[in-house]
This record gives sequence, structure tokens and C-alpha cells, in this order.
Amino acid sequence: MSALHKNYIGGEWVGGDAKPNINPSNTNEVVGEFAQATAADAKAAIDAAADAFKTWSLSGIQQRHDILKGTGDEILARKEEIGRLLSREEGKTLPEGIGETIRAAQIFHFFAGETLRLAGEILPSVRPGIDVSITREPIGVVGLITPWNFPIAIPAWKMAPAIAYGNTVVIKPADLVPACTWTIVDILVRNGLPKGVVNLVMGRGSVVGQAILESPKVTAVSFTGSVGTGKKVAEASIALMRKFQLEMGGKNPTIVLDDADLKVAVESTANSAFFSTGQRCTASSRLIVTEKIHDQYVEALTKRIQDLVVDDAVKQGTHIGPVVDQSQLDQDERYIQIAKDEGGTLAVGGQRIERENPGFFLQPALFTGTTPDMRINKEEVFGPVASVIKVKDYEEALAVANDTPFGLSAGIVTTSLKYASHFKRNAEAGMVMVNLPTAGVDYHVPFGGRKGSSYGPREQGKYAAEFFTTVKTAYTQP
Ligand code: NAD
Repeated sequence: MSALHKNYIGGEWVGGDAKPNINPSNTNEVVGEFAQATAADAKAAIDAAADAFKTWSLSGIQQRHDILKGTGDEILARKEEIGRLLSREEGKTLPEGIGETIRAAQIFHFFAGETLRLAGEILPSVRPGIDVSITREPIGVVGLITPWNFPIAIPAWKMAPAIAYGNTVVIKPADLVPACTWTIVDILVRNGLPKGVVNLVMGRGSVVGQAILESPKVTAVSFTGSVGTGKKVAEASIALMRKFQLEMGGKNPTIVLDDADLKVAVESTANSAFFSTGQRCTASSRLIVTEKIHDQYVEALTKRIQDLVVDDAVKQGTHIGPVVDQSQLDQDERYIQIAKDEGGTLAVGGQRIERENPGFFLQPALFTGTTPDMRINKEEVFGPVASVIKVKDYEEALAVANDTPFGLSAGIVTTSLKYASHFKRNAEAGMVMVNLPTAGVDYHVPFGGRKGSSYGPREQGKYAAEFFTTVKTAYTQP
């Protein structure tokens, strides 16, 4: 990937100032050069999408199916190559990169099927002799703004339903990871996507993202990213009275009860907290542990963390890749210092480490002796940093778990059906996991959270239609 990767606007590849995409496992390595769109490029992309909507919104479902199916097929066939690209631009391990690539293919396949299944309803009217039909129609030009931590899955789970339901798209991937979205767009184009249906504008949020938010021609915005940017999306969208959907941060809890299987507790929380370098919105960073199991759990988890290999993302045997960039690394280290200053005990990790090539490597960090009021337990770090909170019993654990402005994913490790059932009903989160990591979800069921983590309809599965279509109720007197 050395040539300039251009933006895709109105069916043309369009150049711009080049920006290097740097490999966080080896900062001497440039993954590729990517064109930076301007606000004028974003405007041209929105105009092209608005123009294409006139025909694409009326296009046949077989055509949409075939494009999405072909795209999923090609992503799957190229999973090793694209997975490696993902790991090189974002830093998650190669198995994680390939796994995410397979996930993107499955999402395209799922929505290929959904194009053939979009049903309406016909009801009798309360007025005799009249029929009422309820149908779903596309909403228009959708602006898709995505974060850096799932470079292929999140663009896929926004683009595929947008296209399936007859919308046209302007997508702006995170500036740290443009390569995977560029690759999907390239594949869509080669699988017959008509010009203007998807437009790719790579570049800075404050320029390209802002231009999307300010345009009244963009009829809906689907955003995933931080709470701060999410608020900007909300404000700009409310000012224009447009539909919007936000998926944002988390401070996800996992409760470990005295009756837990220790091995399940250690494996699931090591995964939740540290895999993908802790850079998952569904990562579990608050480990809420009852008294009797606390010491043996901390000892076993500490040992597990010591065994995790932190190294180049594509190297065989690596468990944890690098942090995504210098600024995220600074944030992780800042929170490690804050946790120490607030009285937390650093049980293991937390140090920067050197590897063969220069990269952003950080030893996974576990704090013990922390309390719910500490900043480390209130604010999202978004790195390989987790803290243990010791509690008396399940009731206290549940209260601590729910004591957060976020509500994305919540886990419990227990062998008690009573507590598992109670937690499923009473956890204030969009997703609940019993004896499983808080991260790691299926693609055919809804994804999303409550409280400060999410706003608007759920993503993925058939629930995606709630956002990417609008309902029409028609009355007919034959
Ligand atoms: P971010 O908010 O910094 O950026 C997200 C996107 O918004 C990027 O494409 C960015 O360029 C763009 N952007 C920035 N400023 C903008 C502006 N003024 N106008 C329009 N667009 C703008 O987030 P990030 O650092 O890329 O991602 C990390 C965050 O994403 C974490 O908080 C994480 O929890 C969250 N996240 C949430 C989910 C979820 O589904 N809930 C999934 C993944 C990540």
C-alpha cells in the first residue's frame, strides 16, 4: 500500500494532500498514504450522495443483495491480507485483525439477506372499506462517522444496512485508520456499486466530520466515538432536526461472586480488560469482586497478566498489541498515575516496554484496593488498565456496577442461577454477559447501550432498520 489512496466522490477517485498511516507496532513503517479531504470535498460528496439517492432509493432488492453478497464474499476471500492490514494500522493482534475482517464479511452477508426480507404490514382500517399499509422507506443521505478501534467492523455495520435499505452514504473513517474503510469502498465499487451511492472522505474530524454535521442535505448521522464528539453530533443534528444515532464510551463492570468458577473468572476478565489492548468500548475496566474470592482471584489474574505477551501486533505469539498512538499512550499513563495518586495499589504492569521496533507498547496494568469514587473507576481510560473493587456481597456489587453514567455492557461471573437471573434483569446496560467477557458480540442481534453510552436506536441485526429506514403509513380506499 504505497501509492496515494484517494477519496471516492461521485464515482471518481479524487486526490488530496497525502497523510501517512503509521504502524503503531513500528513507527518507522508507513502502512500507506491517504488523501486528506477538504470541507469542499465533503460538500461534493454530500451533493453526489443526494443526487444518487434519487435512483438508488428506488433500486431493486436483487441488485442491492448481489452487491452486498459479492462484497462479503471478497472480504472473506481476502481475510488474511485485510486482517494483516488492520493489525498494521490499528495494532490489534493478527488473529484479532483477521477475526474482525471475517466479522465484516458476515455483516455484509447478513444485510444482503435482509434486503430480501424487508417486510411491511397491511391492516384493516377502523373505518370500513379502507386498507392501511405500513412500509419502510430509506431515509436519504446518511453521514457515517467512525472511530479508530474497530477499523473494519464498525464501518461495515454502518455501511451495509445503509446500502441495504436504499440510502446513500458519506463516510468519514477515523484519521488514524483509513485503510480498512478505503478497502471496503474499493471492494464495493468492484462489486458493482453505482456511482454516488457510497462516498468516502478521509481526513480530520474538525474539518470533514464537521462539514458532514453542518450540511442540511445529510438527513441522518450515525456516529461511534467518544462522548465529547457525540455531544457535538447531537447538537448539530438537533439544530437541523435530523435523525441521529450515537454509540459512545463505557466503563463496563464485571462482577465476580464468591461462587464463581475461578478459571472462568480469570479468563473472561483477562479477555475483557486487556485483549485488543483494552481499546474496546465493551472492555471491562471495573472488576467488582466479593470478599471471599477476592484474594485468590487477584493472585490468579495477576499471574495470568504476567503471562500475556505484549509485542508487535502481527508477530506470532503476541497476545496484546501496542496502544494505537502516542496520544492514547499518554492518556493511559496519565490515568495510571492518577490511580496511584488516589491510593490504588498497582498489582502488576503499567510500565512502557521496548520491543524490536519503536512502538507504543504498554504492560497491561491491574490496580487493587480501589474504591468506586476514584477517577480510575469513573472515567473511561480506553487502554489496558483495569481496577479491582472489593465488595461485601452481590447486593453491594450490583449497586457499584450500576453507579456509573455509562451503560454499554455489564458482566457477572457466578454459578448461581438466582444471581445471574437477577443481574440480567437489573444491570443498567444494553448488553449483559453471564460467565463471558463483556466484549465479543454476535452480528445478528442488536448492539448498543443505555444512559451516557448510547443514544437512538440499536445497531446491527434486524434492529438496524429502525435507524436506516423511516416508516410510512398509507391509507387506501379502493
Ligand atoms: P472520537 O470521538 O475522537 O472520534 C470518532 C470520530 O469522530 C472520528 O472519525 C473523528 O475524526 C470524528 N470527529 C472528531 N471530531 C469531530 C467533529 N468535531 N465533528 C465531526 N466528527 C468529528 O473517538 P475515537 O477516539 O476515534 O474512538 C474512541 C471512542 O469511541 C471511545 O470513547 C470508545 O468507547 C468509543 N467507541 C464506542 C463504541 C460503541 O459502539 N459504543 C465502539 C467503539 C468505540
